[in-house]
Amino acid sequence: MDTQTAHAHQQSVTLTPEESLWHRIDTTDLWRTLFVAACTIVVGFGVTWPGHAYPAVGIAGLVAGCWPIVTEAIEDARQHRMSMELSMLIAIVAAAAIGEWVTALLVTTFVLAAEILEDLSMDRGRDALTDLMAFLPETVRVRRGDALTTVALADVTTGDAVAVAPGERIPVDGVVVSGQSTADQSRITGESLPVEIAAGSTVYAGSINQVGAVEIRAEKVGADSSYGRIIEAVRLAQSSEPPVQRLADKLAARLVYLALGGAVLTYIVTRDLTAAISVILVAGACGVAAGTPLAVLASIARAARCGAFVKDGAHLEELSAVDTVVFDKTGTLTEGTPRVTQVIPASGRDADEVVLFGASAEYYSEHPLGKALAAYAKERGVETALPEDFTYQPGRGVSATVDGHIVLAGNRALVENAPADSGSAATSVHVAVDGSYYGSILLADSIRPSAQRAIADLHEVGLRTLLLTGDREQSAQSVARQLGIDTVRAELLPEDKLQIIDAEKAAGHSLAMVGDGVNDAPALARANVGIAMGSGTDIARESADVVLISSDLNDLVATIRVARRARSIVMTNFFGTIIVDVIGMILAAIGILGPVLAALVHVGSETAFIANSARLIPGRAK
Ligand code: ADP
Ligand code: MG
Repeated sequence: MDTQTAHAHQQSVTLTPEESLWHRIDTTDLWRTLFVAACTIVVGFGVTWPGHAYPAVGIAGLVAGCWPIVTEAIEDARQHRMSMELSMLIAIVAAAAIGEWVTALLVTTFVLAAEILEDLSMDRGRDALTDLMAFLPETVRVRRGDALTTVALADVTTGDAVAVAPGERIPVDGVVVSGQSTADQSRITGESLPVEIAAGSTVYAGSINQVGAVEIRAEKVGADSSYGRIIEAVRLAQSSEPPVQRLADKLAARLVYLALGGAVLTYIVTRDLTAAISVILVAGACGVAAGTPLAVLASIARAARCGAFVKDGAHLEELSAVDTVVFDKTGTLTEGTPRVTQVIPASGRDADEVVLFGASAEYYSEHPLGKALAAYAKERGVETALPEDFTYQPGRGVSATVDGHIVLAGNRALVENAPADSGSAATSVHVAVDGSYYGSILLADSIRPSAQRAIADLHEVGLRTLLLTGDREQSAQSVARQLGIDTVRAELLPEDKLQIIDAEKAAGHSLAMVGDGVNDAPALARANVGIAMGSGTDIARESADVVLISSDLNDLVATIRVARRARSIVMTNFFGTIIVDVIGMILAAIGILGPVLAALVHVGSETAFIANSARLIPGRAK
């Protein structure tokens, strides 16, 4: 089977209920194969009526058996593609022409049987996806007024309160508003231990509510939900053609030429037509042509199971070759929910005043520091004012007009007259009003619990880690020391981050960049693979190639492992095919492998390579 057909199959993903393997075999294919097998036996027993050179049963068997092979070969020829179908057809017809009817029929039976096996394993790959898609419930119960009404999942909108009974699947991304339960999020995060959920917890579509009833305020529904995005990504990934796929197609075509060339040469040297036919029959590349898309498909489904959605097979391929992982600090290695620890007013200023101007200026800010300031003002009971002319200067801070005053809130690159920062690891936001320095607000952010192990694991698989941050040297060093990160560069503007990424790439490194913020988007796009935290900004998630849905950095390690495994499986298939084909062709040319044995080697090896790819298919989720 060639890749074109593999793709065509992949695109017709349907929501079939679980079926037994037996039922999935296309009955026409099955009967066709059995018929050809029966003809082989009949001719094998010497029934060659009306004549040895043209036995009716043999001709009927070949016509029936070769029909699908001929149509595929014609299609390939029309698209100027060299395919195995074409070479097999030549060999089968040649065998029949020299009166080796049993050989021709037997080889045809093998080819048909192998196609059935191959279709089944591709089916299993697609199952991993169908399994994903059929998972969300079709209807959900939504609170409208005082009553619960049942509506179609498609009609749920952001802000709806969705009731989920124990044991039900959670249909939307949202926040629990009431109730208490545990949730199995293994489909989304790969984490098999259930997590406790209660009012305020974030839950994801695609997880299972276990022990209690909960009500969830929908924040992201349908295609926007984490789950919807996984499905969409997987759908897209199926139709994309990663570079390794093109390589596989090219290799398959080369092997066909090699087989045909080898056959001609064999005939010229040995004058043995049977040996020439065997040379064609032994060379197969289906393990490469069909095994590669299967591996790509399966590894994307597997990565999704690890909590990462990969937007394209090409990104997974690049991820396998990455040697350096670059991290942003705030919101990526840290929780991104800093808390104000201290307010230091300038002499003659009042702390409330500093908070009022700082928090008002940050009103529209998407940055974790800005959000923390707004939350702190509320907590402290300071009434903030709506700012005008808000501008965000990435890596520096914000400026805005508050009650007619021009306010700057940010680091010393923005508020130049702020005093030098102390040696502490805290991050400070300096506030200046109409040009005069009013005071500083210190914030501390905790390191993500998942970061420590993730960094250690990255080092263990031989990757280099690099921290690039706009924050101060001290806070950057403190985080890097706690996590054991190799290299740190601090006080960077977004354009500096880009420059460093370019320099690293120019030095021959292949980079994955992990970030969350608006300011990270350019770097995510520039790195070989951009990876966004699920908790990050929309822009970061859009610019990235991979999204870590639950923002767990260990999911990144798992995804890199999947990517590397996929790569090594595909490469094993490539080299394995070349070795088997070359040795097989030599043995066939010198007459050791007869046509039947040659066809067996072809079919057997391709089945083995496809099975090798099938190892990547994730197990069925509960
Ligand atoms: P990181 O690279 O660690 O994600 P950023 O580039 O987002 O950090 O920010 C770098 C520095 O710029 C922050 O440590 C802070 O000093 C300043 N800054 C950025 N955005 C803001 C903001 N909205 N308010 C105040 N300061 C900010
Ligand atoms: Mg950040």
